[in-house]
Amino acid sequence: MKKSKIFVLYSGGTIGMCESKQGLKPASLKKLKSYLPKINDLIKFKSLKNPIDSSSIKPKDWIEIAKEIKKVYDNYDGFIILHGTDTMAYSASIFSFMFENLSKPIILTGSQLPISNPRSDGKINFINSIFVAKEKKINEVVILFGNKILRGNRSIKVSSTSFNAFNSPNFSPLGLIGKDIKIDKKLLLKSSNKKFKINYKLETMVANIVLTPTTQMNFIRDTLLNKNIKAIIIESYGAGNMPEDIEFLNLLKKAIKRGKIIVNITQIYEGIVEMGLYKTSDKLKSLGVISGFNMTLEATISKLMWVIANYKSKEVKTIFAKSLRGEL
Ligand code: ASP
Repeated sequence: MKKSKIFVLYSGGTIGMCESKQGLKPASLKKLKSYLPKINDLIKFKSLKNPIDSSSIKPKDWIEIAKEIKKVYDNYDGFIILHGTDTMAYSASIFSFMFENLSKPIILTGSQLPISNPRSDGKINFINSIFVAKEKKINEVVILFGNKILRGNRSIKVSSTSFNAFNSPNFSPLGLIGKDIKIDKKLLLKSSNKKFKINYKLETMVANIVLTPTTQMNFIRDTLLNKNIKAIIIESYGAGNMPEDIEFLNLLKKAIKRGKIIVNITQIYEGIVEMGLYKTSDKLKSLGVISGFNMTLEATISKLMWVIANYKSKEVKTIFAKSLRGEL
């Protein structure tokens, strides 16, 4: 069997961290590699110039990672991005939109314990990622962590302690890892025969408001009417419900009139927005609030960043309503 060529990019995260007086911080790729087993495959490692704790990630880091993948895309069969768990679901979501026409797997993985710890989950997550990258059945961005392989833009971090740290509450796992690695082929996105490309343009002026009974109207006003913000995601209650407050509804109306995109997603773990199911959400639709259906916050932010930057403003709503990468 032909050996696969796998490209591994170390962007930081606990997997490669070491102890310091201030707590865990990213160490070098050389150190990380010294803990990884020798694998009889053609694996090329590369590190970002400055590996980071993923809680510091910014859009410029996504662009840096994407550029590294673009440079070598044609030369490898699969790609593994070693990444911190804190924002792994955000990165997987944004890459799913930025990377167009994939015909190879892009796997994000990391660990809860540094690889230097004898009990680390880093080694097994890494080895499983190599196996999955070699399978060549996956043509999309996935998160591989613990016992699951998940669609990247459907994933969220659900535990800061469990070795099964991720889940995709509104979509079945693409694969399960146990004694065997079982992939549910019918769930996978089709391989593209168009040329792979990366769209680096991202609109960063996307904000979100989590509704709670104490969310202050001043805060809502400042966010909705901020002239720099292009889109606002409202994390609503239940099936997409928001307070029947005339001041709040008038602010939404005003913001939409000023050309802002307002998206309604639910803050419920397993949930879907059904505007009109309750009286409290009925008006939202006629005001022009867009439904995010059952998208995660991570996917909604990413999709808005990508769609707003890459389409004409009159097209944004139509494109946003479509499933572009299996996120809906
Ligand atoms: N703070 C770390 C990070 O996201 C957590 C982890 O990797 O698990 O980089």
